[in-house]
Amino acid sequence: MQEKFIVAIDGPAGAGKSTVAKILAEKLSYIYIDTGAMYRAIAWKCLQVSEKPTQETIEELVQNTCVKFVPNKNGTSVYVDDIDVTEAIRTPEVSANVSAIAQNEMVRKVLTAMQQEMGKSGGVVMDGRDIGTCVFPEAKYKIYLTATVQERAERRYKELIAKGYNCELAKLQEEIAARDHSDMTRAISPLTKALDAIEIDSSTLTIQETVDLLYGICVGGNDVV
Ligand code: C5P
Repeated sequence: MQEKFIVAIDGPAGAGKSTVAKILAEKLSYIYIDTGAMYRAIAWKCLQVSEKPTQETIEELVQNTCVKFVPNKNGTSVYVDDIDVTEAIRTPEVSANVSAIAQNEMVRKVLTAMQQEMGKSGGVVMDGRDIGTCVFPEAKYKIYLTATVQERAERRYKELIAKGYNCELAKLQEEIAARDHSDMTRAISPLTKALDAIEIDSSTLTIQETVDLLYGICVGGNDVV
């Protein structure tokens, strides 16, 4: 039987991780796991309780929450307990609060354990901030996908405008830089490139070109489609 490995894709917000990870997983016939969605799901639930939840509230809540991915005809829905939060976790409000909640030690412990369980049999493409460093340090393939802050802000801007949100590019750029700072400097499992990760800067690459590079790395050789 062909070996089913783990592909860990880490990198800052807006580098294109989820878009390329999803396509790569399809090409490999693997499962795609968006760990950012899990942190967003917890942040969403915390925000239902309070605009400024205490650490105690966050810890109690994460230990009593079920985050699930459920396949649907367009891809995957994200559930918090029995509520479909697929769209709700993508709002600017959740984006602005998620990094603070992701710093909580209990949140990281609970979600890391869930992610390790989801990927234990291999055959997954998992993206996030600490997959190659903490969740699966033994992953066969580790990619660190990045792009300039300006490029990442422009991508987010186009995405949000297409969804009907009113936003300013300069403000988005500031928010992304702040999220990078928070994710890269936090005490527990900060975003950092694993020593054995392959770094890809997607600033000037199309989605297809990025997927081709990753697929080439995972399957080896030159049979890149
Ligand atoms: O990937 P996405 O931008 O949706 O992630 C949202 C936030 O969740 C990140 O900015 C980060 O604070 C947190 N996160 C994390 N560890 C992961 C995935 C996401 O801390 N593995």
